[in-house]
Amino acid sequence: MTANLFDRLERAIADPTRAAIATTAGNVLTYAGLLAQAGRLANVLAARGVKPGDRVAVQVEKSIPAMILYLATVRAGGVYLPLNTAYTLAELDYFIGDAEPSLIVCDPARRDGVAAIAAKIGAGVETLDAQGGGSLTEAARLAPESFPTVPRAGDDLAAILYTSGTTGRSKGAMLTHDNLVSNALTLREAWRFGPDDVLIHALPIYHTHGLFVACNVTLFSGGSMIFLPKFDAGEILALMPRATVLMGVPTFYVRLLQNAGLDRQTAAGMRLFVSGSAPLLAETHREWRARTGHAILERYGMTETNMNTSNPYDGERVPGAVGLPLPGIAVRITDPETARPLGRNDIGMIEVKGPNVFKGYWRMPDKTAAEFRPDGFFITGDLGKIDDDGYVHIVGRGKDLVITGGFNVYPKEIEDQIDAIPGVVESAVIGVPHADFGEGVTAVVVRSGEGAPDEAAILAALDGRLAKFKLPKRVLFLDELPRNTMGKVQKNLLRDRFATLYARPDRAS
Ligand code: AMP
Repeated sequence: MTANLFDRLERAIADPTRAAIATTAGNVLTYAGLLAQAGRLANVLAARGVKPGDRVAVQVEKSIPAMILYLATVRAGGVYLPLNTAYTLAELDYFIGDAEPSLIVCDPARRDGVAAIAAKIGAGVETLDAQGGGSLTEAARLAPESFPTVPRAGDDLAAILYTSGTTGRSKGAMLTHDNLVSNALTLREAWRFGPDDVLIHALPIYHTHGLFVACNVTLFSGGSMIFLPKFDAGEILALMPRATVLMGVPTFYVRLLQNAGLDRQTAAGMRLFVSGSAPLLAETHREWRARTGHAILERYGMTETNMNTSNPYDGERVPGAVGLPLPGIAVRITDPETARPLGRNDIGMIEVKGPNVFKGYWRMPDKTAAEFRPDGFFITGDLGKIDDDGYVHIVGRGKDLVITGGFNVYPKEIEDQIDAIPGVVESAVIGVPHADFGEGVTAVVVRSGEGAPDEAAILAALDGRLAKFKLPKRVLFLDELPRNTMGKVQKNLLRDRFATLYARPDRAS
């Protein structure tokens, strides 16, 4: 056996007759079927010229064959490179030019556009549609099941995932076989996953959350997943009686709470609700507990590091905290300027080190070097603190920090206060260019409608609760906050939209 993730997965499968993946349309794939189909597809990939270390770029809808394509790529020694289905052809041009895959798999509707891009680097093109049909599946039907898994070292690449890149160019995070397997096994233990688990899988499979956290953890446990093409509150509630775990982004939980069908009885057979990828409001945590009797388990990770911290399975799951460092993973808080380690409760840069942390950014040695400390800690870019009980709290991305009149303002502190005001659904605090202060603290608020507070009422409610320099200079209202597919609030869009809020009128005109 080598360190290839596929080898290790194969060894972990105790009962090949069990279902690995089912769809709401009624398709079921057993572990035996999964191994066989991964063999067929690996043969196709090898026949198409995919050699060990070659990238296979994949932009397809979620389906069982799409999941198998990930395993087949790794089995063939290739490097799996999933791409967000929302990317346009112009965006694909960048990723493909940067990663230089030897094969690109896309939806049949995109074939011509992708072929033009592929031609520039001499890559092959195959298709896979939302139902699992296409040239790849056709070829796999005729291919043999047996395939000798390509030996790989633990340090060899298994995948490249491009970061969402809200500032600057998106970077390819290089993830090794050991990165992925170590995290899957760590989470399996931490969250007590086993063969009897049935995961409701409603996340996309081009992102670390849906692909590695959800799929790897379930498969390495011998459990099964029910694939939903996308989030659907009604479908999720209908599946709960025959499932045990849900993994979601905070928006899932907010939307499920809006559904009258969510109650203790519906959730009675579930053993675990996991949230991550964006901050879960403490309010949502409490409401969920009151409605279902379950405390959501919030964890924290990122594309570059897989998962770093998790609230405990047994023990207190603290609303608003992302939990304790996972076993084998070190987390520390440092002064962003001097890199000096900070003490308990001090806010600073979150740095992590462990077998989960990626190898570096694809073809960006300078960027990679700049984001690691000499002692191997990765600088996450997230600001946070570790409290007296060792729980990690995130206060926001470093780039979202507001510096006003020379003072640092951590948006989350202001957002927590605003969110607690009756009639406020949620808020985002941003820094907007301001001639006097450098940046002006600005709150963008979503209200619940009837009787909800206006700007003056919100400012009055905050007065006396926050130091003067932290008070928003303006409070603006929107019907909803802009979010990406992983539920992250896109503060960069808010900053762009309100960029001229404090601009002085042009005196010359
Ligand atoms: P991504 O690489 O797309 O997974 O995004 C990673 C980023 O999402 C992290 O660096 C955090 O800023 C944020 N994130 C992930 N999980 C959480 C969480 N539980 N609470 C707050 N932010 C989170």
